[in-house]
Amino acid sequence: MLRSAPLLLAVLASLPACGGSGDAAPPRRNLLLVTLDTTRADALSCLGGPDGATPCLDRLAARSTLFARAYSETNFTSPSHLSIFTGLRAIEHGVLSNDRTHPPDATLLAEVLTAAGYDTAGFPAIRHLARVTDRGFRTFSLVDEEQSAPQNTDRAIAWLAAPRSAPFFLWVHYFDAHSLYEPSAEDAALFYSGDPTAAPGPPLADDPYFTLKSTPSSLAPWLGATTDPAFPRAMYAAEVHAVDREFGRLLDALEASGAAANTVVLVLGDHGESLGEHGIYYDHKGLHDPQLHIPLLVHVPGFEPGRSDRLVSTLDVVPTLEDLLGVRVTPHPSGRSLFPLLQDPHADLPWRTELIHDHARNQGVAIRKDGWKLILPINPDYPLFRSGPRLYHIAEDPGEQHDLASSEPARLASLRAHLTPWLDLGVVHDDSTDLDEESLRELRALGYADE
Ligand SMILES: [Zn+2]
Repeated sequence: MLRSAPLLLAVLASLPACGGSGDAAPPRRNLLLVTLDTTRADALSCLGGPDGATPCLDRLAARSTLFARAYSETNFTSPSHLSIFTGLRAIEHGVLSNDRTHPPDATLLAEVLTAAGYDTAGFPAIRHLARVTDRGFRTFSLVDEEQSAPQNTDRAIAWLAAPRSAPFFLWVHYFDAHSLYEPSAEDAALFYSGDPTAAPGPPLADDPYFTLKSTPSSLAPWLGATTDPAFPRAMYAAEVHAVDREFGRLLDALEASGAAANTVVLVLGDHGESLGEHGIYYDHKGLHDPQLHIPLLVHVPGFEPGRSDRLVSTLDVVPTLEDLLGVRVTPHPSGRSLFPLLQDPHADLPWRTELIHDHARNQGVAIRKDGWKLILPINPDYPLFRSGPRLYHIAEDPGEQHDLASSEPARLASLRAHLTPWLDLGVVHDDSTDLDEESLRELRALGYADE
């Protein structure tokens, strides 16, 4: 799977670390990057989730900088991971949906680290993500079938155990929290007891949402006669809990390897999940904050732990790693290094007040700026955007309950003016005709094809 990175990368890779001029060259740190698919921020106990849901992530968070206001650049898996690996927006790297079949032209983090002498390994859990992230890794799993968290952890632990003299970059992706939420009976029992069909009211599957073309067809049969909305939420929590256990096993293996004291551990969600908010059920289509607000924690050995409330993004991963690992990946005009916040989460320094979020296939775009948020449809026929623009004063209405699009036309126009490139681009469909039948079948099962 190894492909040659441009020679220029090797030269740039020798730039000093930590962003400071005149710093003594630090030891080359290892990197463990873990992406938690479909994991909203408040799935973690340390960010407001159920008590005991994520003990292993919480323990690491207590030794890390925890970012309480981290947001994904986009709401689909492949586009988001490419933003994590390049520091570029989806409309900049060009992977705008999950049906893209090749990595973008943009330089990927693994290419740069391999060129810099790192031993690199990537373990995505699903095929459609593997096909757009495979470039640059020395060891890479193409994924014949979806890998469970225990399976992927086993593979990563086996790779960690191998002797090596070079620093390493290990990427592990956990997909289990994605719907359908089907935890083991043991994990399910930790979060729900009783009969999910006994609550008063109609079956959840009767909601009009489940008739929309954009809704995964597998959701309604999975819900069956369930009437209790607490049940699917509990099953989601149980899936996150199961991932947390495997993450803990991975951290234990890192400790056992002897490398932990020199390893940056960066963990984040690729996007969130709506559990019924805004009429969107068990899915992450749309651009409301349940789909975008993610956990992000960065552990750097020797750094004091802390918590930051600054507005940060998946776009900030690459700039931060550039400073921590002493490499340069690519220009990333919208990303910011979190390095100053890792040193002091309360540092008094200018910071961004604006983020923009791409919807998959550029069906829509959202901007949050100065306490306001505009969700702007680009495809007015997309089922979730038919009601038109939504404007929220999120500084006072973080739950996005009060749409002010009609009453604040001037503010809507002002925010809309920042979104010209997305509006000009229009809806984008990728080269899905190159997909093999098995990949198409998987995407349809996940509800991503044929929109
Ligand atoms: Zn995802």
